[in-house]
Amino acid sequence: MTDNGRRSELAAALIEVNGRIARACEAAGRAAGEVTLVAVTKTYPASDVVLLAGLGVTDVGENRDQEAAPKAAEARAAGAAPRWHFIGQLQRNKARSVVRYADVVESVDSVRLAEALARAAQGRPDPLEILIQVSIDGDPARGGVTGDDLWRVSDSVASADSLRLGGVMAVAPVDWAPDRAFELLRGLSERLVKSHPSATAISAGMSGDLEAAVRHGATHVRIGTSLLGMRNLLR
Ligand SMILES: *Cc1c(COP(=O)(O)O)cnc(C)c1O
Repeated sequence: MTDNGRRSELAAALIEVNGRIARACEAAGRAAGEVTLVAVTKTYPASDVVLLAGLGVTDVGENRDQEAAPKAAEARAAGAAPRWHFIGQLQRNKARSVVRYADVVESVDSVRLAEALARAAQGRPDPLEILIQVSIDGDPARGGVTGDDLWRVSDSVASADSLRLGGVMAVAPVDWAPDRAFELLRGLSERLVKSHPSATAISAGMSGDLEAAVRHGATHVRIGTSLLGMRNLLR
């Protein structure tokens, strides 16, 4: 496809997604500006990041360092500097690479990972923003803290000068009603904000369930498929 063809395709999808967010906000009695769209560009090329940035998208999300590091460099070289959110499971030995391009790491779920990021982020001009990923159903297989680890990991992040605790992130379990999952996440967020008043971010909602997430207070929705198209099934 030509660059212009892809640009029109992304522009149309973006209008659609922004419309869904705006309608969901209106239904929830919230202002549309309260919800930030994070365009999940995994498996798609840097040229799509550049086009999306040109269409006004301010935040993008990636889940693999091997893919994200060169993509961020390529987009930057082409003049696009969106905020990069790392949203995938992260091994501690990738922390040094991720802190070079990420503005936010949304998938922190252990004190050890928080400490590795804190060390790697020393010397950055501004602190790295951290969201704590919560496992809604208590199954840690796909990442996320369970039980009291939320408070332990949050305290660790908040005590590191090179990190800034931003809030929480979750993926609704496939076998849960999204409303129930996001309601639970909001309850945890409210408790977190009591001890860390600036940690107000709630990253919840993907292409299939953004309306439920917005209903339950999401401040960030992470949208891939509805914006960029179906990904290769192997990913
Ligand atoms: C891929 C991914 C998304 C985007 O999912 P879509 O259903 O394509 O919108 C959101 N969050 C995480 C953590 C992801 O890995």
